[in-house]
Formats: sequence, structure tokens, C-alpha cells
Amino acid sequence: MSDHMWRAVDDYFTETLVKPDAVLQGVLARNAEAGLPPIDVAANQGKLLYLLARMMNASRILEIGTLGGYSTLWLARALPENGRIVTLEFSPQHAQVARANFAEAGVADKIELLVGPALESLPQLQGPFDMIFIDADKRNNPHYLRWALKLARVGSVIIGDNVVRSGRIVDSQSTDENVQGLRHYLRDVGDSPHLTATALQTVGSKGWDGLQLAIVESLPD
Ligand code: SAM
Repeated sequence: MSDHMWRAVDDYFTETLVKPDAVLQGVLARNAEAGLPPIDVAANQGKLLYLLARMMNASRILEIGTLGGYSTLWLARALPENGRIVTLEFSPQHAQVARANFAEAGVADKIELLVGPALESLPQLQGPFDMIFIDADKRNNPHYLRWALKLARVGSVIIGDNVVRSGRIVDSQSTDENVQGLRHYLRDVGDSPHLTATALQTVGSKGWDGLQLAIVESLPD
């Protein structure tokens, strides 16, 4: 099956089930206008994040990697009235676009955006978060996992994006630091006595990739 067909099936699911609205389409349009790379989650993946957050009644969510806030908005929409999402972004330019998107979507009061390297923002945060979505510089994922466990509670869900990278994840000799960061991360997730996890491959409008899911069973001392 070709990329063309993957995209067609994604479009079909999006049209039939996901139904992203003008606000979300507007976010993607403003991101493109501002020159942001189109590396946000696909619409059906954004809706998956939204559904997972709803299914677990998440009221505090942490996102590492905001870009223009497309996934942030899907997650923010899943929150109850008093729910909050904290999202971390390195690039001031991406953060500026994201802030405008949050204001336009009318959910800015639910979102706290911290600008700077995530490893500098994470120590400022107070847990626990019900859901933690890791989608930034993949080379740092092993560090993000350690922080995620510090900021979690028993029952929190930790999701890591882009864990397949068109199959390159199986190349143990890869010189790509993101591949090596993800391999280290997945090994740590799998070996952790505190987590139960799996990962899924996905194909679609964003190519061949996938996501990892874990539930926190116990907390490190
Ligand atoms: N979650 C977003 C979505 O689906 O709409 C996409 C996030 S994009 C894949 C990754 C983002 O992480 C980029 O905006 C990038 O600037 C940011 N990033 C990269 N390194 C970072 C770091 N060290 N700390 C915080 N953010 C970082």
C-alpha cells in the first residue's frame, strides 16, 4: 500500500469520524503561515489523544513539545471545567504562534505554556499529572521519562510519540541521535518496574510512525 492510500484512508476516517472543526483547521493554517514545520499529530491522532484523556478523566495533563499547539488544543478540549494542561516549548517563535492559537480557540485559560528547554522547565513543575505526552526532541526522551515518573501518580498514562520513524527504530547502529534516544527510552520504559507498556505502529497522512503507551503502576522512591 502506498503513502497515497494511507493518506486517503486517513482523510476518510477524519471526514467520517474525527470531524476536526474550523478552530483546529485555523491552527494548522496559522502554523503554516508562520512557517512552522507540519510535524503536529494528524487529526485522527489528535482525536485519539483527546479520547484517551476523556477515557481516563484526566484533569491535569503535561505535554512536552508544543509546536503551534495543535495537539495541546485536542488535549485541552478533553479537560473538565477546572482542568489544566501545562505544555513545554523550546522555541520562542513556536510558542508565540501557539499562544495566538490558544487565544483564538478560547481555551487560553486552561493552558500554561512554558518557554525554554524542557529539561529546565520540568524541575519547576508540581505533579501529579494524570497524562504526560512526550513529543519534543527525541534524543532527550530518557530524561523526559525520568521526569514523567517524578511528576506522575499511580494510574498516570505516559505517551511517547514518533517511536517508529519509518522503521528506523530497529536499527541499533543508527547514527541518528533521535533514533538512539528513542531506543534508550523504549528500553527504559520496558525495563521499568513502575510501568506497563506497549507501542503501536501507525501509517497515515504523517507517514509510517507510531506511539508508545504506558500506565504507571507504582512510583519510584
Ligand atoms: N505536539 C505537537 C503537535 O502534535 O501539535 C508537535 C510537537 S513537535 C513534534 C516538537 C516540538 O518540540 C517543536 O516545536 C520543538 O521546537 C520542540 N522542542 C524541541 N526540543 C525541545 C526542548 N529541548 N524542550 C522543549 N521543546 C522542545
